[in-house]
Formats: sequence, C-alpha cells, structure tokens
Amino acid sequence: TTGFMQGKRGLIMGVANERSIAWGIASKLAEQGAELAFTFQGEALQKRVVPLAASVGSDIVLPCDVTDEASMDALFATLADKWGKFDFVLHAIAYSDKEELKGGYVDTSRDNFSRTMDISVYSFTDVARRATDMMNDGGALLTLTYYGAERVMPHYNVMGVAKAALEASIRYLAVDLGGRNIRVNGLSAGPMKTLAASGIGDFRYILKWNEYNSPLKRNVTLDDVGGAGAYLLSDLSSGVTGETHHVDCGYHVVGMKAVDAPDI
Ligand code: NAD
Repeated sequence: TTGFMQGKRGLIMGVANERSIAWGIASKLAEQGAELAFTFQGEALQKRVVPLAASVGSDIVLPCDVTDEASMDALFATLADKWGKFDFVLHAIAYSDKEELKGGYVDTSRDNFSRTMDISVYSFTDVARRATDMMNDGGALLTLTYYGAERVMPHYNVMGVAKAALEASIRYLAVDLGGRNIRVNGLSAGPMKTLAASGIGDFRYILKWNEYNSPLKRNVTLDDVGGAGAYLLSDLSSGVTGETHHVDCGYHVVGMKAVDAPDI
C-alpha cells in the first residue's frame, strides 16, 4: 500500500465503541497504512475495543485510566517495550458528571470541577510529557475539543470551561514541544451522537440546531472528523501546530443563526 501514514505508529486513546470520534480517526489512519495501539477504560469497554482494534490489524490494546498514575506509567512502559519509539498520539478523552451537564454553569461543584479538569484537560498535558521522549522527529499530538470553549452553549457548562483550558494547553504545548519538532493541535468537532454526548442535556435539539444553521446544512460524520484528524496527525500538516481546527460543517462562522427552523 501507499497510504500517507505508511511506516507511522501511533497510540489511540478514547475509543469506547464504533461511534467514538477516536474510532473515526483511527479507521482513517489505518486505511492510510498506520500501525495502531489502543487504550480502553475499564473491562466493559475492553470487550468493545479489542474487536475494533483487530479489524484494523492491531493486537495492542491496553488498559488506561488517565486519573490513575500507575495505569499511565504502565501504559507508557508497555509502549516503550513494544515499540520503543512512535509517531503520534490521539487523545479523545473527556468526562464530567452528567448531573452538571444541564442547568447552569454557576452551580458547578468543586469536586466535579476538579474531576472534569483532571480528566479532560490535565490528561492531555500528562500524555504529551510522557510521549515526548518516545516520539520520532516530526511527531504529532492531537486532542478533541468543542465550540463550547469559545462561546456559551446550553448545558455544556463546566465542560466548556475545561475545553477552553484544553485549547490554551494546545498552544502552550505547541511552544514547549516545537523545538523537538513535535506538533500539537486540536480538532474542534461539531456535535455528534456518541456515548459521551448522551450525557449532555437536550443533545438532540443541539444536533438539529446545528444541522439547520451550519453552512453545509448537516451535522458532521465520523468520516468528516476522521479525515481531518488523520491529516492533523500526518506529515500532510507538517507546518501546522498550536492550531484548533474546526470540523463543524462551518457552524462557527455563522453570525446570525436563524430561529425559525421548521423542524426545531
Ligand atoms: P466517547 O464516549 O466515544 O469517548 C469518550 C472517551 O473518553 C471514552 O472512550 C472513555 O472511555 C474515555 N474516558 C473518560 N474518562 C476516562 C478516564 N478517566 N481515563 C481514560 N479514558 C477515559 O465520546 P466522543 O464524543 O467520541 O468523545 C471523544 C472526545 O471528543 C471528547 O474529548 C469529547 O469532549 C470530544 N468531542 C465530542 C463531541 C461530540 O459531540 N460527541 C464534539 C466535540 C468534541
């Protein structure tokens, strides 16, 4: 084969099932010749991730809870053992208590604020630090973000604040790692029906609103996000770092959204 990821190896974090954004990106990368390793969080998800990994020729499927230092140590020790060096990491991980993904941001609890920031923001920095010494020249890191970082979206609440911090992290990490020729970018995806999204209040309404108001008049697909993600993790984007790239059917450029959608 002659795919643009031929000869590249990378770690995929955040596949829960076949609807996961991480899976959309992983399948594009595999299509282009990349060799992949996967993480899963908890035994229930292992059963889903193992066959997905096998379907793209990967038998490296490792447990990882980003809040657990020992689990992170073990993950990177295993990668060092199996691969030594690799070329990219996809971080598609976020969490917040769904009780706080409805109502107002003002009611966020201290506990959930910390947990949300730990899992959804710090974990990317932690991964970047651990991966740096193991990456080949020209390596790339990619995380997933959402427009709720830039503008207030209903119910997104503390996750919006976390994504704003994540987007700032992308810029700081890009500067820290740029001297080693490692690139750091974010992909800001439009709303998609995934396991994580099912925790967000009124999510079906948000999907319809986006479909009606985006320039392309539809919601994004795993294919859309997969293609852009593969580009950002490949040498095709070799001059791009510190960037948050919108893959949202253009929703973020629209100034005046129409309120009279017939089917909303
Ligand atoms: P998903 O549920 O398929 O993936 C979320 C993943 O996070 C799961 O694999 C889960 O196991 C993992 N995770 C949560 N806590 C973890 C922990 N402590 N340790 C390790 N892994 C943990 O949902 P998704 O929508 O594909 O989410 C992937 C990323 O995309 C998230 O960062 C999410 O915020 C972002 N995103 C989603 C949308 C959307 O509408 N679905 C839009 C923009 C950005």
